[in-house]
Amino acid sequence: MVELEGVHKWFGHNHVLRGIDLTVPAGTVAAVLGPSGSGKSTALRCINQLEELSGGRIRVDGELMGYREGTRRGQPTLFRLTDRQIAHQRAAIGMVFQRFNLFPHMTALGNVVEAQVRVLKRSKSEATERANALLDRVGLTDRAAHYPAQLSGGQQQRVAIARALAMDPELMLFDEPTSALDPELVGEVLAVMRDLAASGMTMVVVTHEIGFAREVADQVVFMADGVVVEHGAPADVLDNPREARTQDFLAHVL
Ligand code: ATP
Ligand code: MG
Repeated sequence: MVELEGVHKWFGHNHVLRGIDLTVPAGTVAAVLGPSGSGKSTALRCINQLEELSGGRIRVDGELMGYREGTRRGQPTLFRLTDRQIAHQRAAIGMVFQRFNLFPHMTALGNVVEAQVRVLKRSKSEATERANALLDRVGLTDRAAHYPAQLSGGQQQRVAIARALAMDPELMLFDEPTSALDPELVGEVLAVMRDLAASGMTMVVVTHEIGFAREVADQVVFMADGVVVEHGAPADVLDNPREARTQDFLAHVL
């Protein structure tokens, strides 16, 4: 479960998130749509604390992200967690970007093994076993020994998903995971994401894939100018948007 409550983010004088409220129940998928610059990536980056909030609160499975609640002189106060504590929280959240960001000097298998050993302190053999199972899950059993440069974009993105899953995340964040792919490779990545959703993973997916949002998402969230303009069941938001800004956006992407 993910809860954003009145989340604000400023970059200098630029007020990018202007009070975001959003709840993604455990085991559900939220698809986030919206025009360029509306704050979608920033909102995702705030969830896993790649960006520090300027205001508001984010909880993942009830745990406050980035802060500890306490009191100072009898007043309820938020205390910033240490970098180490934040890194620990972040490790429970998988993130997949538009660009695959694989380590170029490591094989597919090596990419999926690496953080398991370094961050989770798993043994090499345990990590390798888990990595092989995950590469199998994303349909890449026969590509384990290939380097990123020897893989298609769709295959690289599936390795990136396997790598994120290797950390046993309780939540997966996707930021336009198919936008950089050739059209014929989009389907194989969406299929992996669809399976992941069916397995009960909690997911927040920024995407322009309206078909995916319609079929897989439990809720569609439309953002513009740093706010959630409307959200609801895919059929409601996509087929009967209430707000003019949503109607306008959908008229251009559909
Ligand atoms: P897109 O669809 O193009 O990916 P987006 O909805 O993901 O857009 P964001 O990347 O969240 O939008 O950007 C929202 C605003 O915040 C933009 O005006 C952007 O220039 C600004 N911004 C994002 N990251 C930073 C940063 N690190 N420093 C300063 N400004 C930033
Ligand atoms: Mg973005």
